[in-house]
Amino acid sequence: MQRPFVIILLGAPGAGKGTQAVRLAAARGLPHVSTGDLFRENLKLETPLGKQAKGYMESGWLVPDELVLDMLFARVARPDCVRGYVLDGFPRTLPQAQAFGERLGRIEPIVIDFVVRDATIVERAAGRLTCKACGNIQHARFAPPRVAGKCDRCSAELVQRPDDAPAVVTERLRVYHEQTQPLVGYYQTAGVLRELDGEQSPEAVFRSLMGLLPPQEAA
Ligand code: AMP
Repeated sequence: MQRPFVIILLGAPGAGKGTQAVRLAAARGLPHVSTGDLFRENLKLETPLGKQAKGYMESGWLVPDELVLDMLFARVARPDCVRGYVLDGFPRTLPQAQAFGERLGRIEPIVIDFVVRDATIVERAAGRLTCKACGNIQHARFAPPRVAGKCDRCSAELVQRPDDAPAVVTERLRVYHEQTQPLVGYYQTAGVLRELDGEQSPEAVFRSLMGLLPPQEAA
């Protein structure tokens, strides 16, 4: 059996990882594993994990590593992940990267760093609209819905995520620079990092992203 194809999308919150992860996962037939989505699901279902994560998420802070790792490891142990998966929003700290590396063992992940300026992040977050039902991401200016307030994909209601509010975005960026950006150096040293210009249009970013990945092996 061929080795699982593990892709890590790295970059600031709002750098475009979520949008591209959905497309990439569809193009490669791999599951999209977003720790942010998993936490939001737990929040909605009011699980004990959701209750523990809530305060951190609403403040723009990272959820403690142990909670993230237990949740993520359980998710990637599911059978749909045997051929690989696209990680979006994980890892976000050095201890998470190290624990994940130990779990992967000899499997080398492909790490894509979305390079986007802070000013662009703030502008994008201000207009970002997320579908309450299917998680599709649109934007008031850059990807306006065909029908105001409704998702282009499933017609459910589009909302601004509470953590896209300007004060929370500023805090998430500060946390990103402090805790997540060191992972760029970590994966660079490991020789598995590829840089992507995330300032381009979503279509151009997708083309660049596909160009950075090895061709798909025949199943
Ligand atoms: P995201 O949708 O990836 O921006 O994640 C939303 C929120 O979920 C983050 O601001 C964190 O509070 C939490 N979160 C998601 N992934 C992680 C992670 N890998 N480590 C810690 N917290 C996380």
